[in-house]
Amino acid sequence: MYKYDAKSLKAEEFINNEEILETLAYAEANKDNIELIKTILDKARPVKKDKGYVCQGLSHREASVLLACEIPEITEEINKIAEEIKLAFYGNRIVMFAPLYLSNYCINGCVYCPYHAKNKTIARKKLTQEEVKEQVVALQDMGHKRLAIEAGEDPFHNPIEYILDSIKTIYSVNHKNGAIRRVNVNIAATTVENYKKLADAGIGTYILFQETYNKKSYEELHPTGPKHDYCYHTEAMDRAMDGGIDDVGLGVLFGLEGYKYEFAGLLMHAEHLEAVHGVGPHTISVPRIKKADDIDPTAFDNSISDDIFAKITACIRLAVPYTGMIVSTRESEQVRGRLLNLGISQISGASRTSVGGYEKEERAHDSEQFEVSDTRTLDEVVGWLMDNGHIPSFCTACYREGRTGDRFMALCKSGQILNCCHPNALMTLTEFLVDYASGETKKKGFDMIERELEKIPNEKRKEIAKSNVKDIMASNRR
Ligand code: SAM
Repeated sequence: MYKYDAKSLKAEEFINNEEILETLAYAEANKDNIELIKTILDKARPVKKDKGYVCQGLSHREASVLLACEIPEITEEINKIAEEIKLAFYGNRIVMFAPLYLSNYCINGCVYCPYHAKNKTIARKKLTQEEVKEQVVALQDMGHKRLAIEAGEDPFHNPIEYILDSIKTIYSVNHKNGAIRRVNVNIAATTVENYKKLADAGIGTYILFQETYNKKSYEELHPTGPKHDYCYHTEAMDRAMDGGIDDVGLGVLFGLEGYKYEFAGLLMHAEHLEAVHGVGPHTISVPRIKKADDIDPTAFDNSISDDIFAKITACIRLAVPYTGMIVSTRESEQVRGRLLNLGISQISGASRTSVGGYEKEERAHDSEQFEVSDTRTLDEVVGWLMDNGHIPSFCTACYREGRTGDRFMALCKSGQILNCCHPNALMTLTEFLVDYASGETKKKGFDMIERELEKIPNEKRKEIAKSNVKDIMASNRR
């Protein structure tokens, strides 16, 4: 259908302006073509096969037609299918994580980011290894098991050795029952050699947001610093995978450019990774631009409404059914609640976006990246998820047992989620409840666990899970 070959072309060549513009024109021309839209929706539906489900996913052109369509009944149908896909491959589990900001020193000039080098008002901070430990203890005291580390790009203040030391420190802290079991990394695009070092350090997912797939806008939005190089940034995931990192996480910063353009680019990036590396992105994040220090709030006129944002999320879910989807505390409780029913599988909780932000009860604003919209505690978020029928999961078993990249995708496709991930989620939730939860959250949680254990189809696995849960509840873990 297209003249561009996802496998032989480099990411930057495959995700090209001409194809994206043709996609947008095709989507616009077909946005009321009910016959075509119904065919696309049928293609997107999960189909029962053996013990599980299979899904074909959608191409960027097909998904773009759905995104362009403004017929309310079609949006409802898209939302329904998005929820079905989420439940088929991820169940009702929601994986929990927290960001850990290591350093806000940065030499780039990103015009939307308060870390930009010319910002003289932000307090510059970099955690020492002792401070990293203190932050990790504070995060462990809340119950977190999975972190995403964040840093500006600065070869002097934050060289790769600093990042590697910090990862080592994080994995080494074992406070009470709290070892961090998975460290995901969100740092600037780097070399294959450095990606190899990150892989050797045992990171989980390497996350890098493209910010925008519009090359011209990209260059204007990143006027100075190493991040200005669009090709180097766009090809980072290929270098990461060449360096041995199995799981990579994509995302664009919605609000910088036209959302339809970004959506098509994002899906083309996923197609490229799948074609070249045999496995698509492990996760896709959906961050939206926020007000920030020393950033002109009137400069970004591409901000999107909550309705459009929800539609984007649901359409991504249909296009890449096996990819995890992440929403952060940039979004409010209300928006997050809505997106959870449209395919989101991971959320952050109790996040602080300032460097060293977890050490104090009150929020420090002087070094933060953006103000968070969801300021609830982890206990409150966990309780809220359960009130809404989601199982908060602190599981990292796949990563620890080497089920990354295509092996994770194989599990996802095998329909073994209810026998494998579901019991793991319940066991790690039991640990959280016993070790960290308030009385009210404990009560909700134990009731939920009792109900959810009954859903494990394999009798033997059900018995094992019940016995493990009982052991955790009976153990004197502190
Ligand atoms: N320095 C690394 C890089 O350049 O990719 C990553 C770290 S940065 C802390 C993480 C992400 O924050 C960026 O990729 C960007 O999408 C997002 N970000 C920057 N400014 C933002 C803002 N004003 N509102 C919301 N998100 C923002």
